[in-house]
Amino acid sequence: MKYLLVLAVVGVAFWIWRNNRRAEAADRAVQRPPSPPPAKPVTMVACRVCGTHLPQNEAVPGNQGVYCSAEHRQRLEGPSA
Ligand SMILES: [Zn+2]
Repeated sequence: MKYLLVLAVVGVAFWIWRNNRRAEAADRAVQRPPSPPPAKPVTMVACRVCGTHLPQNEAVPGNQGVYCSAEHRQRLEGPSA
């Protein structure tokens, strides 16, 4: 029974080793694609309530500033705002 366990461990180790070798070979065969262009700089804004920084296009605008969520806008400006 003990030998079965050893055999299983060796088998798994061999399988992992083979997979790694195959991945390396595939990596070498495939021409590395040119690196993607750098992402456009995103203006980061801070939530007025919790200070979380988030992209401006994801921020919730309010009368007194921007917020990370409608919930935080309500907390500072009230539900009617
Ligand atoms: Zn917030």
